[in-house]
Amino acid sequence: MQAINNIVILTGAGISAESGIATFRGPDGLWEGQRVEDVATPEAFMRDPALVQTFYDQRRAALTAVEPNAAHHALALLDKKWSGDFLLVTQNVDDLHDRAAADMGIDGRLLHMHGQLRSAWCLNCDKRSEWTDDLSGAPACPQCGQSGFMRPDIVWFGEMPYAMRAIETALAKCDLFVSIGTSGAVYPAAGFVQTARRYGAQTLELNLDVSNGSNQFDETRQGPATVLVPAWVESLLAA
Ligand code: NAD
Repeated sequence: MQAINNIVILTGAGISAESGIATFRGPDGLWEGQRVEDVATPEAFMRDPALVQTFYDQRRAALTAVEPNAAHHALALLDKKWSGDFLLVTQNVDDLHDRAAADMGIDGRLLHMHGQLRSAWCLNCDKRSEWTDDLSGAPACPQCGQSGFMRPDIVWFGEMPYAMRAIETALAKCDLFVSIGTSGAVYPAAGFVQTARRYGAQTLELNLDVSNGSNQFDETRQGPATVLVPAWVESLLAA
């Protein structure tokens, strides 16, 4: 087996489930009671901006009631201790990886490819601002002062995920690619395992159940993230 120096980790909604944030495709196929087409597309925002702003305002407000769990903390520990290249790519729009890194006293090597709830994007001046309040009610942009142009800084279906070039570069260099708590249903993230394999990386999936993409990985382990992730990090750091 080749030595592991460079690691890329992809996380999805499953890693935050045990912190109390609902996954995307819950048992009812909805996201927090809403159809994805009604809240997570640019067309939905044009059709009914108030519904979309309220939906993300609720998700943003709910962050104050949740904490990072053992899986987020284990990945922050790995980031702190790992001397090779390390990149944590998250599809999550929550801030639990960021908070786990802060708890560890580090600036995490982390990319939010689908944006963040605690960021707002002004469509007038094109600047992003840290945002913890509601966006409903047309607040003014802190950077250009104009009201009515702020949208959630979330990558909706049909939009281009962030930082793709940096992610592709890291995937091409990595020796190990690990996917945690993601259904393998949302592209381009679902294709990262194939990219990593093409460049010769080992691949591991940690997920509650068998996912859409499980058969693409060299190894898969099934169980809750708060159990699987700390155990995997401990064994990697001990090796
Ligand atoms: P998904 O909801 O499609 O899939 C979640 C996966 O996690 C499933 O395969 C499920 O079996 C697994 N899972 C559930 N509980 C788990 C646990 N305790 N431990 C390990 N695995 C567990 O999520 P996705 O693949 O990330 O795609 C959803 C999209 O929705 C993303 O683009 C994301 O931006 C958005 N989203 C984000 C959040 C968040 O920020 N926390 C929450 C919901 C949706």
